[in-house]
Amino acid sequence: MKRRAIVAANWKMNGGLELVNTMSAGLKDLELAENVDVIICPSALYLAAFDCNNMNAHIHLGAQNVSEHDSGAFTGEISTTMLQELSVGFAIIGHSERRSIYKESSEQAALKVKAALAAGITPILCIGESETERAEDQTEAVLSAQLQPVIDVIGIEKFSEVVVAYEPVWAIGTGKTASPEMAQATHLFIRQFLAKANSDIANKVPLLYGGSVNAANCEELFAQADIDGGLIGGASLKVDEFKVICSTAKGS
Ligand code: PEP
Repeated sequence: MKRRAIVAANWKMNGGLELVNTMSAGLKDLELAENVDVIICPSALYLAAFDCNNMNAHIHLGAQNVSEHDSGAFTGEISTTMLQELSVGFAIIGHSERRSIYKESSEQAALKVKAALAAGITPILCIGESETERAEDQTEAVLSAQLQPVIDVIGIEKFSEVVVAYEPVWAIGTGKTASPEMAQATHLFIRQFLAKANSDIANKVPLLYGGSVNAANCEELFAQADIDGGLIGGASLKVDEFKVICSTAKGS
């Protein structure tokens, strides 16, 4: 099964116009393998300022979050329509920081995935276990409980339009990366979990790994059979390092 590879940059609440300008200029000559997409997710405030025109056509804009509601009295939220107006084609949903700091549930993430899909925005659904959950052998149960509400809400067929990012919480921003073998085994579990509902769809879903990916470790991670790219935090703020990561990705 051929799958495109995706490298997504999650800037979180970092950087300002200077980073937008540095990254825009730096990515102009980015060379990508044929079947690779790069998604830049700056703060929502800078989505309009990041101009993907005149760049490799496979560089796209993504949001770090999106509301499950269409419009109305939801102070501070951003709707799918607002993202559409800015040609934002992707949205990170259910990032572990949204889950832990802002108490977003898997059920809410499922509604956000549904809203994004209805607007033609590709959701990058983040799932992952904490250090304690991994130590207590709960990883598979946690990932299943994060995935199932999404299947329940959108149906497995629609999952063919979803990107999943597996991000062990203990590896995010810590410099502790899952070993390629551990990441591959977990990605295989995710694919097999989806395959229980529909194996064709499961084979189509790009599974990204996230958690302290950098220029030095990306090659081994991306070489794994079920790892279709990465969700990159810290290393996506450094233009030269991010370019190495993007150029290392290859679709299968
Ligand atoms: C992330 O924010 O999704 C992430 C993976 O961060 P980092 O690469 O810094 O661990």
